[in-house]
Amino acid sequence: MSRSVLVTGGNRGIGLAIARALSTAGDRVAVTYRSGEPPEGLFGVRCDVTDADQVAQAFSAIEQEQGPVEVLVANAGITKDNLLLRMDEADFLTVLDANLVGAFRVAKQAARGMLRARKGRIVLIASAVALAGEAGQSNYAASKAGLVGFGRSLAKELGSRGITVNIVAPGLTDTDMTAALPDERKQHILEQIPLRRAAAPEEIAHAVKFIASPEAAYITGAVIPVDGGVAMGH
Ligand code: NDP
Repeated sequence: MSRSVLVTGGNRGIGLAIARALSTAGDRVAVTYRSGEPPEGLFGVRCDVTDADQVAQAFSAIEQEQGPVEVLVANAGITKDNLLLRMDEADFLTVLDANLVGAFRVAKQAARGMLRARKGRIVLIASAVALAGEAGQSNYAASKAGLVGFGRSLAKELGSRGITVNIVAPGLTDTDMTAALPDERKQHILEQIPLRRAAAPEEIAHAVKFIASPEAAYITGAVIPVDGGVAMGH
């Protein structure tokens, strides 16, 4: 299987683990990066998902290098945590723009080629806090819950053309994003997780690899938790 894949934010963390898993399975994998160098062995396109022009240019470069995107993993994401009264409107909008509108920008580009090909896989990386909520993360949870409505709407729009759209919802995962959390907060989160540990990025990648595979052809519009049980029932 050698499909043309794009993983946004595939230069580090969960995105890199997903990119490596798909590349090892034989896919041709492009990743976005904003600075520095892209990871070795993957096709790097410099792209900030908050900039529609950069997104369009990235898709042209990928199409030229490895063909139209057949599998899109919208993984790029940021946090700007604060309690409501301390949260600036700018911090709310910035997180929405990167996490939710960013996914819209890349999905719209990817859908063109997928509709033409009458097949495709779109995977949106949300979060366990999307539907459960989390104090101090109203902007982030809103952006991730938005991905659920967005993804399920796309699943309904695109399903008749053989395109599946699913949402993977990781829980606490060991990456730069969570390394920045204060120890006390991390401890508190760990106590809520039935499996009492964080995920390795590769554990999120396994789920994404499956949902993007031909074997998952009859699964669409699903929210797949990979969260050690923390958001059970949400
Ligand atoms: P990291 O902070 O380790 O990496 C974030 C990635 O997103 C980087 O590759 C970064 O690129 C990229 N990115 C951020 N903003 C943009 C942008 N505007 N344009 C392009 N790329 C961007 O995070 P994780 O690997 O932990 O997170 C990956 C995804 O998983 C995110 O969507 C996150 O919300 C989600 N998630 C993470 C959890 C966790 O516990 N770690 C739990 C649940 C969900 P650059 O290197 O250029 O900054």
